[in-house]
Amino acid sequence: MKKITIAVDGYSSCGKSTMAKDLAQMVKYNYIDSGAMYRAVTLYCLRNNLFDGDSPNETALKNHINQIHITFQYNEISGKSDTHLNGENVEKEIRSMAIADKVSPIAAVDFVREALVKQQQAMGKNKGIVMDGRDIGTVVFPGAELKIFVTARPEIRVQRRLTELAAKGEDVTFEEVLKNLTKRDLIDTTRKDAPLHQAADAVVIDNSDLTIEKQNNIMLKLFKEKTE
Ligand code: C5P
Repeated sequence: MKKITIAVDGYSSCGKSTMAKDLAQMVKYNYIDSGAMYRAVTLYCLRNNLFDGDSPNETALKNHINQIHITFQYNEISGKSDTHLNGENVEKEIRSMAIADKVSPIAAVDFVREALVKQQQAMGKNKGIVMDGRDIGTVVFPGAELKIFVTARPEIRVQRRLTELAAKGEDVTFEEVLKNLTKRDLIDTTRKDAPLHQAADAVVIDNSDLTIEKQNNIMLKLFKEKTE
């Protein structure tokens, strides 16, 4: 069976990662969470005082960009890949609201995108990869054989993120999460460099009312159409 590249894009918190992870597991491909890479850069910036208020200090960040190394390492206990920033496991920290609040301005910086896109392309050079993000089917792998664009109704997206954060012990309200998702979507869709939009050849999946089993069956069918 031929190996392909699979791009999963969409708005914040619409279940892209769950879908991409499940698909990768079903077809035995590598899964890469590109959002985790932007989150790790954001954590680095917060730790190194590279923000002026809500905006990154681009001049200072430029001097640091080559010192930011992001890798993924398989965690035997969770059975998932953890994100490492310069060798430190930051998987838990990058999922916090503090990072979600600052990540989109970082992801709008052109030289940050340039550096991360290069790494993402290198990770996918042998195909057999499922990568989720915002620009995977449009910029990172425009030639991906299967492109999925995920959507879900806003209230469902907020509820999913709330449940996820609550499970991690973060006490946030529906309004705070809604505000964060709306803000991130606005920055992600209107930025100059690689704005989030649906690739012309992407298949749209609205998973608002889909069970995990149903969405997995839809993805598996699409995968088979492209590979058999
Ligand atoms: O997917 P996740 O919500 O973890 O992504 C965090 C942020 O990283 C997004 O809101 C977006 O600003 C940025 N991002 C991006 N391009 C990607 C993946 C994520 O700009 N390919």
